[in-house]
Amino acid sequence: MTPSPFLNQIQFNKSNTQVRGRFAPSPSGPLHFGSLYAALGSYLHAKANNGLWFVRIEDIDTTRVQAEARQQILDALFAFGMEWDVDTQTQSQLRQSDDGCLTQTQRLARYQQCFDYLANKSMLYGCECTRKEIKASGSSYAGQCRHKQLTLNDHPVRIKQLSPVLSFNDLHFGHQIAPGSLSKEDYLIKRRDGLFSYQLAVVVDDIDQGITHVVRGSDIMPLTARQLSLYHEFEVTAPQFFHLPVISTAVGQKLSKQNHAPAININNPRPELLKALQLLGLPVEDHSKLPHFSCSEILDWAIEHVDFKRLPTSQEIII
Ligand SMILES: [Zn+2]
Repeated sequence: MTPSPFLNQIQFNKSNTQVRGRFAPSPSGPLHFGSLYAALGSYLHAKANNGLWFVRIEDIDTTRVQAEARQQILDALFAFGMEWDVDTQTQSQLRQSDDGCLTQTQRLARYQQCFDYLANKSMLYGCECTRKEIKASGSSYAGQCRHKQLTLNDHPVRIKQLSPVLSFNDLHFGHQIAPGSLSKEDYLIKRRDGLFSYQLAVVVDDIDQGITHVVRGSDIMPLTARQLSLYHEFEVTAPQFFHLPVISTAVGQKLSKQNHAPAININNPRPELLKALQLLGLPVEDHSKLPHFSCSEILDWAIEHVDFKRLPTSQEIII
């Protein structure tokens, strides 16, 4: 048996007592109001619990990366007063960029190592089905190639879901039944274009950084089941998941880069900062002096006053 590639991390988690959170934007465009809301939610959760808050650049899908977006995102976080911590405790510190952020495209060798671990456990298989064939066979992939023994080098690679996770607890939304089609499907670990999948990268990153709480938008809540099954395969205790409502302009219309959501205004951050805090359940309207505070002062106030029980219970907030 190959030993787990996470022995150091398992050891770290045993002795760690501090909350460790993260905000993990994809550099596919500047931050918009929806991503500001998610960043603030994870920031306040970590800081209100005396925790650390990291920023990770999720650029694994290089086909979506925009060259200038990384700096735009970091400048925006800075302008809004959200300073990220630099990891000094786990081995992931060795792979941080100069700006203190972990960057997925700099970690391909690490993903390969974790991929090889799954391959050695006979969890992976090559798939030769075309998109058209999969679509024709039903809404999700039914494991047609599981026993074909196709090579992993020149095919998309799927993971066998032998013990799918069917339900989980979310710290905000409570008990969640995972959609069976999502959790039981042998999903892609390596894509057709040779890139490692988001699922693999995000789980390896969260483990390597010793993340204890994943706070993020509820639009990806169903994918949690797939990620939990990977933790199981890696024999690592999963972090707790806390999903936030997503900001939408109409029902089902999440603010997103694809929907051309406008960038937040880093030259005048306070109005959008206060609006986002209000939508996180903070009593902004009761404090008339807040608009005169600096962003860091506003955040200090928010860290002291945030109460996640006041967070809206709907999965979507229409603005
Ligand atoms: Zn196939």
